[in-house]
Amino acid sequence: MALHKLELFENNIGVSDAVLLEPIEEEGFIENLKKRFHHEQIYTYIGTVVVSVNPYRKLPLYTDDVIFEYKSRNIYELPPHVYAIADDAYRSMRDKNLDQCIIISGESGAGKTEASKVIMQYVAAVSGKGQDIDKVKEQLLQSNPVLEAFGNAKTNKNDNSSRFGKYMDIEFDYKGDPIGGLITNYLHEKSRVAVHADGERSFHIFYQLLIGADNNLLQSLKLRKNYESYNFLKHSGSIEVDTIDDKQDFQVTKRAMEVIGFSPEEVRGVFELVASVLKLGNVEFVGQSNMDGTDGCQLKESYEVEEICDLLKCQYEVLQAALTEKTVETRGDKVKVGLSGAGAAYARDALAKAMYSRLFSWLVRKINDSIQKTIMVRTPGKKKVMGVLDIYGFEIFESNSFEQFIINYCNEKLQQIFIELTLKEEQEEYIREGIEWIHVDYFDNSVICDLIEKSNVGILAMLDEECLRPGNVTDTTFLNKLNQTCCEHPHFESRGTKKARSDKSLPHDSFRLRHYAGEVVYKVDGFLEKNNDLLFRDLSQAMYQCQHSLCKDLFPEGDPDKISLKRPPTAGSQFKVSVAELMKNLLSKNPNYIRCIKPNEQKRARVFEEHLVRHQVRYLGLMENVRVRRAGYAFRQLYPQFVYRYKMLSAATWPNWYGVPKDGVKEILIAQDISSDEYTFGKTKLFVRNPRTLFDLEERRRD
Ligand code: ATP
Ligand code: MG
Repeated sequence: MALHKLELFENNIGVSDAVLLEPIEEEGFIENLKKRFHHEQIYTYIGTVVVSVNPYRKLPLYTDDVIFEYKSRNIYELPPHVYAIADDAYRSMRDKNLDQCIIISGESGAGKTEASKVIMQYVAAVSGKGQDIDKVKEQLLQSNPVLEAFGNAKTNKNDNSSRFGKYMDIEFDYKGDPIGGLITNYLHEKSRVAVHADGERSFHIFYQLLIGADNNLLQSLKLRKNYESYNFLKHSGSIEVDTIDDKQDFQVTKRAMEVIGFSPEEVRGVFELVASVLKLGNVEFVGQSNMDGTDGCQLKESYEVEEICDLLKCQYEVLQAALTEKTVETRGDKVKVGLSGAGAAYARDALAKAMYSRLFSWLVRKINDSIQKTIMVRTPGKKKVMGVLDIYGFEIFESNSFEQFIINYCNEKLQQIFIELTLKEEQEEYIREGIEWIHVDYFDNSVICDLIEKSNVGILAMLDEECLRPGNVTDTTFLNKLNQTCCEHPHFESRGTKKARSDKSLPHDSFRLRHYAGEVVYKVDGFLEKNNDLLFRDLSQAMYQCQHSLCKDLFPEGDPDKISLKRPPTAGSQFKVSVAELMKNLLSKNPNYIRCIKPNEQKRARVFEEHLVRHQVRYLGLMENVRVRRAGYAFRQLYPQFVYRYKMLSAATWPNWYGVPKDGVKEILIAQDISSDEYTFGKTKLFVRNPRTLFDLEERRRD
């Protein structure tokens, strides 16, 4: 065993496990990350958690040779790496039958998606081979370019930002070979289809298709090769991106779809929908005043709608009517009411967004189906699972809305299970080793989770109540309701409550939540509409009437035979259900964590901005993590390894110790006059309370 490579200790590249920092303080923690970062050591442990700092440059860390080095090695034998965690998780799953999950978190651009790909690459490389197995691996790996083409976009923070959350279960047979996979997607940012900020883009696929498709395909999709022709694309002012090759990426996306098992007709159907979304953006309306004094509108030009109808095999009159009118039911009578120009534009965008985000969910389902079908004859025995979660981290922007509220709620839940599971794991290790557990104080954020999600009284419940309440409901009436119900809550503040009435830093149209990671002010503007997420029934019916089978599939609620009077669940309540399922799933598995940190905002190599990192260290709760991990014993090591490393520190163990390893450890501790308060003996490991003790031993062994 290459113990000479043991990497834990202090040297010019910092400590590789932050648990060994003394004292445990934020400054020292950040200093250590910085030191390591400048020595190309982007990974640091906190116990078994990997902290990863985005290097923004290619480092020689991911070659086959490196994979080979990490394969089947003990986690502390080599410098910290995602491979070490992946290997540990993979082996525990395969050999101990423990299902695993790897939870990757961090802010946009911190490197979550890259880390998830590194894990998949590792698992594919170290698991078995065979025709079907290789096919499954290929499908799993190729799901990335497809999901990225349709789900990622250039934002101001990241040129390849995932605009959806992703959880992927990789399934293995009893031998540890991949036999399937299941992807779940969360909260696709569909608003980006219609609008995006300056300097940002829409989803990659739009640009890939326009620049990458050959003339035949473009013609048949009735597209022009010119971004400027499309309202949904032209406003970004950031079409060409240095780090992105849309033309080549289009080929990659197409090939990936083939490998996964999309038929040529399906691929075509997908592009027809993408083209229709682009064209919808060009549909414009001219408002008019009707004779009866009501507003109405007409299509400014008909050809875009005609072309959409050709692509989607839809009747022109049906789509034209659905875009400019809506059916209103009053006392059982159905009446058509004209939409104003602005109303029609709103409905058009809602349709484009619904079409695109449903297409995205369909792609995920299709990928899942294809992977599941690859291995028809399952090997006997229970399948084992490794889950990988790549989900947006905590967000605090200048202006925060419903989306940030939902994302931060999810992070609040993840933090809850993070602490719960880290403590549980520590406790279990103590029990396994027969050591008495020491109580650890920590901030329990369930009080904030409750504030958001509790039935009937939580913020989500009140939002739903306000969405369903008849009468004049607005974002302001929602805020008033929150003020009444939450005014006493220690983590809620708003100008409408006594507590924060004179707090001028808080605008009147906002509320502030004190999250575990910091305070966030949410502007209520748009909360109701985003939570309602309604598409006029006329539009879903028009889509259902299309003869385009994929489009029809995406709008099942448009089936006139299946019209239900029940409102579809709101966006918030759907998210709450999927978060609850996700948490249940994660809690049933053995967790592993990768916490990603972004060192600067300019996406530059070799730049480490301490204030930025400090902010992230805080909201990732990393110091809490170090504290929990350090609460009892900072360090633990298997007896034989301890003897091997420190045998020169006692005459009894030098040059070799042939007795029981635990006795050898005792010899060394006595010879070095280490106080018995400083350590305790577990069943297989020595537990050391203070890292200083260890550093002393380390120095003495070097002397
Ligand atoms: P988002 O939340 O926006 O999806 P993310 O955390 O998934 O962000 P990534 O897309 O993984 O961020 O990383 C952003 C960019 O940073 C990558 O495109 C790549 O250029 C660089 N990067 C991330 N991790 C690494 C790494 N380990 N080595 C080299 N470059 C990296
Ligand atoms: Mg990402």
